[in-house]
Amino acid sequence: MRPNHQPPPSAGGSSSSNKNRPRRRADLTLPLPQRDPSLAVPLPLPPSSNSAPPASSNSNALPQQVNFSELDRVNRIGSGTGGTVYKVVHRPSSRPYALKVIYGNHEESVRRQIRREIEILRDVDHPNVVKCHEMYDHNGEIQVLLEFMDGGSLEGILISQEANLSDLARQVLSGLNYLHRRHIVHRDIKPSNLLINSKKVVKIADFGVSRILDQTMDPCNSSVGTIAYMSPERINTDLNHGLYDGYAGDIWSLGVSILEFYLGRFPFAVGRQGDWASLMCAICMSQPPEAPPTASNEFRHFISCCLQRDPARRWSAAQLLQHPFILRGQPHQVAQNLHQLLPPPPPLSS
Ligand code: ATP
Ligand code: MG
Repeated sequence: MRPNHQPPPSAGGSSSSNKNRPRRRADLTLPLPQRDPSLAVPLPLPPSSNSAPPASSNSNALPQQVNFSELDRVNRIGSGTGGTVYKVVHRPSSRPYALKVIYGNHEESVRRQIRREIEILRDVDHPNVVKCHEMYDHNGEIQVLLEFMDGGSLEGILISQEANLSDLARQVLSGLNYLHRRHIVHRDIKPSNLLINSKKVVKIADFGVSRILDQTMDPCNSSVGTIAYMSPERINTDLNHGLYDGYAGDIWSLGVSILEFYLGRFPFAVGRQGDWASLMCAICMSQPPEAPPTASNEFRHFISCCLQRDPARRWSAAQLLQHPFILRGQPHQVAQNLHQLLPPPPPLSS
């Protein structure tokens, strides 16, 4: 996930982070916040190290700190462009977590930015957003402790039942609406960043660190993530007079992902793994994809609200939560159906 958030309140994060903080000057390498005045929602307060933990809406939130030395690695879950994810267990509590080890050894300035980012992300607490618990810095190697999602990601999953898709979209939109209200833009919504657990809860994963790495990586480097789910105006900045609205960008990515679940394939006339030029042509130069005529009118309309070429015409997450396609879902029935969506457990590898 790549949040584009407001700077933290001046009090900053925890007392331990204050110790590490440089003396005075603001770090000007962070981008200026892209502020939407209509979203005048205050940032969450920084955590207080003395007071009791705030009531959490996320049942997996952990109140106390987890020491790195108390974690045992169980197995490797998978690797992406930015790092490798392991399943780990916290010995004292026997709780499982996911530990994301970020590739490369980063300069102190980058690590400082990542620390600052994690301080903000630790306050993010929503049932449909993967909880970020801690960040460890071992001689420049950064590891992030995350809530463990035992069902893995939704990549490659076919969901032809609209009722299931409606429930899934509602859950992702709830998480996205929460992030957007806090001025956090994800920037990397795609099936592999949507995770599910055995309670059939779908959560948005992966934000924070990747945004910083984005800034430090060469954009021509193939290790930078795919553009397949990026909106046309983000790929081609000429399209919207150079303006990029990250909130609307997230909605486009959501629309592509939901349509991909329904079709069981990447919805553009090019492979998702295609080269940059073919993807760019397909996404920026042709009409946005649509749901097929066999789909319901509500679903077709929902997809068209996400996949508007003009970002100003895309619906917001709050508006989409009120869309008939989302409202028609019966949560208790759909929860049962979602059970069938659970992917097989990830392969055990070392
Ligand atoms: P990219 O780096 O391009 O975003 P990715 O999302 O597949 O690709 P990672 O975010 O590094 O890469 O994740 C690697 C794998 O680890 C994913 O396929 C996902 O299934 C799994 N994973 C990531 N976070 C968690 C988590 N919190 N709980 C369980 N599994 C996770
Ligand atoms: Mg990921």
